[in-house]
Amino acid sequence: RTVYLNGAFLPENEAHLSIFDRGFLFGDGIYEVTAVLDGKLIDSPLHMARLERSVGEIGGRLPVSTDEIVAIEKRLIAENDLGEGLIYLQFTRGVEDRNFLYSENLAPTLLMFTQAKTLEHVAAVERGVKVKIVPDQRWARRDIKSVCLLPQVLAKRAAKADGFDEAWMEEDGLITEGASSTAYIVTQDGRIVTRGLSEATLPGCTRLAILQLAQETGLPVEERAFSVEEALSAREACLTSATNFIVPITTIDGQPVGDGTPGPIFKRLRALYMEHARRTAV
Ligand code: PLP
Repeated sequence: RTVYLNGAFLPENEAHLSIFDRGFLFGDGIYEVTAVLDGKLIDSPLHMARLERSVGEIGGRLPVSTDEIVAIEKRLIAENDLGEGLIYLQFTRGVEDRNFLYSENLAPTLLMFTQAKTLEHVAAVERGVKVKIVPDQRWARRDIKSVCLLPQVLAKRAAKADGFDEAWMEEDGLITEGASSTAYIVTQDGRIVTRGLSEATLPGCTRLAILQLAQETGLPVEERAFSVEEALSAREACLTSATNFIVPITTIDGQPVGDGTPGPIFKRLRALYMEHARRTAV
């Protein structure tokens, strides 16, 4: 596999990072994951806009423009003959002797790699996924897509150990989001509910696209926090993320959601999103 590191396209076993990289020592970095279908990038402008925002929020500056990043991603897709999968991008503050503070002129680290993966035709779409509710133990700036993912690693490990597919994180009786996904419920009267944007959650790119599609189609949407009790009495539930697109949730904490099978609102949103994804891919 060819990967990108700081201006160079290299075989993966020749791409080396310093042990003094601040991404490694402090988690001082930002990442993005973009899906690839039919060799094309899905929702790329949304991911590039969020990348610029996250990097700006930590006082960093991208070493190349987002147009150049997209060109690099396209070259990696071509060189690795990637049909379906993802592109991972990581920005870090750079390399320097260990110190919490850093030099202003530090050259950032920028790397990208591809990962082949089946995204579209996966069992979860028909079967649904099982989520476990766990406490949200993350920091207070979850709107920044930081590489400090230890709370999510532990949440997913706890979910997996109990036979669940994903963790939904809960704070003050309300669901914030999934460990690596945005959380939705459909109320008994058919309204799609997902949390509004704030520092409490990551602004999901797939969420933005899904909410716009729902609104254009006339499906009622409420952007507000929902409680654990509301989730347990919902008619449907689902999650979105770049690499899952939209997937139904059939049980929460072991209790079936609705009749325990993927519901009609989910199916509608999935069809709308897949059509949008292919139509706008670059
Ligand atoms: N929330 C969290 C905590 C995530 O890690 C992710 C994606 O990894 C999402 C939401 C979904 O965001 P997106 O749709 O941009 O992939």
